[in-house]
Amino acid sequence: MVVEGHESVMFAVDRASGLKAIIAIHSTALGPALGGTRFFPYADEAAAITDVLRLSEGMTFKAAAAGLNLGGGKAVIMGDPDELGTEALLEAYGRAVDRLGGAYVTAEDVGTTVEMMAVVARQTSHVKGLPRESGGSGDPSPMTARGVHVSMQAVANTLWGTPSLAGRTVAIQGVGKVGARLAERLAADDVRLLISDVDTEALETVAASTGAEIVEPPSLLEAECDILAPCALGAVLSADTIPRLRCAAVVGSANNQLAEDEDADRLAARGILYAPDYVVNAGGIVNIGVEVETGTYAEELAGERVDQIADRLTEILQEADRRGVTPSAAAEQLARQRIASGSTARPS
Ligand code: NAD
Repeated sequence: MVVEGHESVMFAVDRASGLKAIIAIHSTALGPALGGTRFFPYADEAAAITDVLRLSEGMTFKAAAAGLNLGGGKAVIMGDPDELGTEALLEAYGRAVDRLGGAYVTAEDVGTTVEMMAVVARQTSHVKGLPRESGGSGDPSPMTARGVHVSMQAVANTLWGTPSLAGRTVAIQGVGKVGARLAERLAADDVRLLISDVDTEALETVAASTGAEIVEPPSLLEAECDILAPCALGAVLSADTIPRLRCAAVVGSANNQLAEDEDADRLAARGILYAPDYVVNAGGIVNIGVEVETGTYAEELAGERVDQIADRLTEILQEADRRGVTPSAAAEQLARQRIASGSTARPS
C-alpha cells in the first residue's frame, strides 16, 4: 500500500509539558477519522512523520474494508511515555485533539494505556475505547478474537464446503490477549490446537485450559495444519518462511503479516489461501466503531457486527476468485470503491 495523500496533518506542541505530537487525518470520506495515539521515542521527527502517515492511511483501508462509516487517522506523541507521559502533557494533547472538532477520534495504542486516555478525555469528548465501567467499549481483544474465529469459519466454508472447524488443526502463533481467546473459542469447536509463544507461562495456562499441544516457536510456522493463525508479530509471511509453510490457509490477528506486497502472490503460488489481516482482525475497530457511531456502547450490536466480518471476507474471497487476483488485491479494491463512493456521496 502506498501513502497517497492526507486531508490534514497537524503538529501539536506544548512547551510547558514537552508535548510534541502529530495528528494525521488521512480520510474522512466515510466518517470521522478513527485511530489510536501511539507514544513512542522516535529516532527523529522524520521517523514519526513516516509512521503517522503510513498508519493513518492503513486505518482508512481497515475501516472501509470493515464496512464502517469511519475514516482513517492516527496520532503519534514523540518521546518516552515513562518519562514524558505526565497528566499535563496528556491534557495538552487532549486540547489538541479537541481543536479538530471531532474530525479525528482517538483511542489507546502502543505506548498509551486506557488510564492515560482517560486523562486525555478530560479535555475532549473525542476519545473512545475507555473502560466499560465508564461507558466505553473497553478491551477490544475478545471481539478481535471473535472476528478471527468467524473468519476461519468463512475460510473453511470456502475451502471445504462447511463452516465447521471440528476435527481441523489450527496452529496459533502467540497466545496473548487475542490468541488465548481464540484458542478458547476453537477448543469449544473441537479443533486440534497447536500453540507457540515466547512466554512459557501464557503457553502453559492456555494449554491447560484448552488441551492445546505446545510447539517450539520457530517450528510452529512449519507445523502441518489446516489453518495457521499468526497472532503475535508482523512480517511473519516472507520469501523465507512461505516455502516452509504446511497449511492450507492463513487466518490470524497480527497486523501487517506480509513482509512485502509480493508475499500475497507467493502464498497464492503455493496454493495457500491468505485471508487479509486487516479484514480478519477488524473486530476491535468494529467494536469501537459502535461507540463512535452511536455515542454509546452496546455489546450485542458489536458482536452482531463483528460476525459480519465472515460475510465480508467471503465476498472478498469470491471476488478474488472471480477476477483471478489475490484476496489482498480484492480487499484493497473493495475498500477503494467504498472510499471513492463515500467521497462522492458527501456534500462538499
Ligand atoms: P499481546 O501482546 O497480548 O500478545 C502477543 C503474544 O505474542 C504475547 O503473548 C507474546 O509473548 C507473543 N509472542 C511474541 N513474540 C513471539 C514469537 N516470536 N513467537 C510466538 N509468540 C510470540 O497482543 P494481542 O493484543 O494479543 O495482539 C496480537 C496481534 O494482533 C498483534 O500483532 C496486534 O497488533 C494484533 N491485533 C490485536 C488487536 C486487539 O484487539 N488486541 C486488534 C487488531 C490487531
